[in-house]
Order: sequence, then structure tokens, then C-alpha cells
Amino acid sequence: RTRNSASASPHPTGLPRAPACPLQSPRLVAMSLPALALLGLEAPAAEREAAEAEAAQYFSGNRLLAGSEPAAHCYCGHQFGSFAGQLGDGAAMYLGEVLGPRGERWEIQLKGAGLTPFSRQADGRKVLRSSIREFLCSEAMFHLGIPTTRAGTCVTSDSKVVRDVFYDGNPKSERCTVVLRIASTFIRFGSFEIFKPTDEYTGRKGPSVNRNDIRIQMLDYVISTFYPEIQEAYSDNSIQRNAAFFKEITKRTARLVAEWQCVGFCHGVLNTDNMSIVGLTIDYGPFGFMDRYDPEHICNGSDNTGRYAYNKQPEICKWNLGKLAEALVPELPLEISELILEEEYDAEFEKHYLQKMRKKLGLIQLELEEDSKLVSELLETMHLTGGDFTNIFYLLSSFSVGSDPSKLEDFLEDLTSQCASVEELKVAFKPQMDPRQLSMMLMLAQSNPQLFALIGTKANINKELERIEQFSKLQQLTAADLLSRNKRHWKEWLEKYRVRLQKEIESVSDADAWNTDRVKVMNSNNPKYILRNYIAQNAIEAAENGDFSEVRNVLKLLENPFQEAECFREVKEDVEEEGATATAPA
Ligand code: AMP
Ligand code: MG
Ligand code: MG
Repeated sequence: RTRNSASASPHPTGLPRAPACPLQSPRLVAMSLPALALLGLEAPAAEREAAEAEAAQYFSGNRLLAGSEPAAHCYCGHQFGSFAGQLGDGAAMYLGEVLGPRGERWEIQLKGAGLTPFSRQADGRKVLRSSIREFLCSEAMFHLGIPTTRAGTCVTSDSKVVRDVFYDGNPKSERCTVVLRIASTFIRFGSFEIFKPTDEYTGRKGPSVNRNDIRIQMLDYVISTFYPEIQEAYSDNSIQRNAAFFKEITKRTARLVAEWQCVGFCHGVLNTDNMSIVGLTIDYGPFGFMDRYDPEHICNGSDNTGRYAYNKQPEICKWNLGKLAEALVPELPLEISELILEEEYDAEFEKHYLQKMRKKLGLIQLELEEDSKLVSELLETMHLTGGDFTNIFYLLSSFSVGSDPSKLEDFLEDLTSQCASVEELKVAFKPQMDPRQLSMMLMLAQSNPQLFALIGTKANINKELERIEQFSKLQQLTAADLLSRNKRHWKEWLEKYRVRLQKEIESVSDADAWNTDRVKVMNSNNPKYILRNYIAQNAIEAAENGDFSEVRNVLKLLENPFQEAECFREVKEDVEEEGATATAPA
């Protein structure tokens, strides 16, 4: 089918039609039962294989679900900071809405189902690796309690496309794969940017639409459908109503980013077309969960300037909200939305971040001003020692508040076993600038404020100097030095942590009950399992060789991210036992 025929027959509602292109021998890689249950679909007790084969037909797009009317959604977006003009669903196909068993309404989409009117120069397909990543991460985020679009199925096929992955210098053809995505809506900030006439910087134009009519209709639709409490409170389409909506999406976005930061999640492509109008995590591409804590971690290989680095996510999402505000004019004047953004965003982010971090640290009784410093010192310690973000938080629940020195030593062993080697740390602290170059620039900058502004702020320079200092210290370290250095750093932080926990104990009447609660809260806020890149990669490689069991096993782990899985507990016990017999005297 050609690109043209996709737009040839208009949809009854005037939307461009985008029927799926059939795939050869579709088969189910994995499905998420809790996601499918949203649609009222459940796994049959018998004839599972036949049911899976049928599911593969429908969720590859080969067969159309009764009542669905495939369509593609038009949106614009700011990509990497500048207006990119019209984008739209190039590889995703909207099928329609499903009224779930509990009365909720779900939009469903097939991602990777073929060409749409917005595919531009691309093919509208997705491959196995990107689809497995999106499928697993959507469900992982949901089970971590983070707002996200869901994934119901992942279906692969014998149809192939060539992608630019090179093994031995040859392009590799990969299996076309489709993910069934589910969300209350896939409308994005960028959906409102189609009303932007021309970008002031690039001169790029948005599509020609009757801007005023559609903007009002779409805003009415979004508010009345997804923010019904706001629509009811104002019962009109006044500026006050629109302001209340903007305030709410500002707060939701701030809370969403705070959740990402607390689990070490990097989105990777925070363009305005990847920002959900209801505050969900949307569009899983080159995302990554941090292993070793590095505030400047960049997960997207093509993000050369680090625009979407881990520590930039909060400010970038605020910037994106600013672009949404611009797109809402004149329904919401900029003076009002800018004020809302300034008054609400940072405050909501800080509040939610600190609340979540207190839970992660088991600070359940008191809210002290010093807590935010304790958190940043913890992260600094992780950074200095190359600590694993997830594992260190997970370990903290077994820190005993009493100061038994042998227990502390054991705990320090555990913590430092989660820290990086000398070589890994050297990479982490490798200065970006040559020390001589830096000192030369500093000297010149003393007498030339313009040059100073060019190299960056004083904070940037100080950071670079710190890196150089860290790096030169690391150069002389052996593994044994590193261990004692790391233990020193951790001991220092744990001492502060212990003092803070002591304050909790002093404020309660029943210290045992407090401790039980503390551990419970920590264990439901510090995941044992996150979708690390190597875990996804293992599952992808097995699936590429025709074995889907690893994808299904990983999904099972991620469905219970806070609990150590039975199978791993058994393995660990075996290892410990073997270790004990090996070292036992003959
Ligand atoms: P993303 O970077 O994933 O947010 O995508 C940016 C734009 O490219 C969106 O308009 C996508 O729909 C489009 N796009 C991404 N992948 C494909 C593909 N394989 N075929 C067609 N369009 C695509
Ligand atoms: Mg996208
Ligand atoms: Mg994408």
C-alpha cells in the first residue's frame, strides 16, 4: 500500500484513515494480563495457544476489532528545543475507544502497524527490540506506581524492515513488531501546537487548520473528558476554567518528573510531542534506568548536548509546559499561565520529590527541614562511590539503627559491594576539559567577563575543577584503597542517617511498631527490580532467536518490582550454602 492510499478515503469523522498493513505470520511475544483486563479481555483457561494465535491476528493489525476505525493523530512538537512543525502518529494507529468493565474509557493504539499519513520518509514500522523495550517498560512503570501509558500485547512477525543497526558493517533486517498501547488518551502538549502558525526561530509552519475553532473544541474535549471535576466546577469555557486545567497539568507533570527522579528513570526524548496532556509517561524510546548514580547521566545516544540528561528532566518538563502555555493562547492568556507555572511547578516538584524520598529513606514520622540535605548528601555519596541507585536504596531498609559496630561493618560491606570499581569511577569522573586548558581559560576569563559567560557560569567551572580533583585522586587508587575510601564515605553519611532516624524513634511511643512500619514503607518504595538495559537486552536477544520466555519472565519480575522473587531467593540460598561448605574445614 502506498502512502497516498492511506489518506485517500476520508474517515467518516473527517479524520484521515490509517488502516494497518498486514504482517506475515504474526505471533505473540508476550501479553500483560493486567493491561488487557482494563479492556475486559482475559486469558482463557483452555486452548491458550489458539487464543494466543487469535490475539496475534488482532493485535498485529491483520484483523480489525469490531467497531474500530483506524486513524492517525496529527500533532506538532518542539524537538530538542526548536519547533519541528508537523509530526503526528507516524507509526502508531489509533483504533478507537473501549469502555472497560469498570466503566472507564480507554483509547487503544497499535504501534508499528504501518504507514500513516504522517509517516513522512519512514515506514511506520517498529522492530522487535524497540517494541520489547516499550512493552516491558510501560508495564514496569505501572507496577512501580508511576503514571504511564500501558502495553497489552507485543506481537512479532516474519515481515522484515532494515534498520540502521550494523553488525560487521552490514545493515540488519529486523522483524516488524507491534505493541498494543492503552491509555486514557494519547493527546500530547504537541497536539495543541498544531495551532502555532509559524515558529519564530525556524520559520517552520504548522499545518493549515482552522485554528480558533479546533483549539477551542479540543480544549473543551480535553477538559470535559479528562478533567471532569474542573469542567463541573466551572461549567463553562471561561479563562478561569482553562487556568484551572493548566494548573492541574502543571502539577501532574511536576509530580511525574519527581517520580522519575526517585526511581532513576531517564526518558531520553522529552520533546513536547512526548508530553502527555494528562501527565502520563509516554513514548518509550532510548529511555534508561540509571545503574550507577550519575546526575548527568544521558541515556539517549543522539542527545549530544545532554539536553535530556537525568538532572535536566525537571527543568525541561517545565520548559515544555511553557510551550503548552504558548499554544493555549488566546484561550488562556500567557500572563496567567506563566504565573501559574512559576507559582506551582517548582513547589509541587520539590514537595513530591521530598515526600517520596522520605518514604524511600523510611522517614515516616517527622518532616524536618534538614531532610532535603540528607537526601542530597546521600546522592552525593552514591555519586562519589559509584553506588548503584536502585540497590543502595533497596539495602537501606536493612540498616539497623542501633550502633553495634560489627553490624555496621557488615552493612558497610553490603553497601560498598554495590559501588563501582576504580576503573568505572575513573570513567565517571573523567574531566571534560584538560586541566591546562581550563586554567588557561580561567586566567583569560578573570579579565574578560564576556569570555567568562561563554565558558559557562562559575558553578560550571567549579564543577569541572571538582571533577579534575576527583579524577587525579582516583588515578592513584588501588582496589583496596577504594574500598576503604568508599567505606569512609558511607560511614559518614550513615552516621547522619542514624541521627535522623533516632529523632524519629524519640518522637514515637512504640519503637518496634515504628520500625515495622518504616521497613514496610521503605520496601514498598524502593524497588528490587527495575528494567535495566542489560536485562532488556538479554530478553531481546533471546526473542530475536525465537525464544520469548525471557521476555515473559522479565515481565513477571517487573509485575512485582518490590518483592524479591522466589526463584532468586532459592538461587541465593544455594549459593550461600555452597559457599559455606567450600570454606568449611575438611
Ligand atoms: P519519537 O521520537 O518517537 O517521539 O517520534 C517522532 C516522530 O517520528 C513522531 O511523529 C513519530 O510518529 C515519528 N516516527 C517514529 N518512528 C517512526 C516510524 N518507524 N515510521 C514513521 N514515523 C515514525
Ligand atoms: Mg513520540
Ligand atoms: Mg518513539
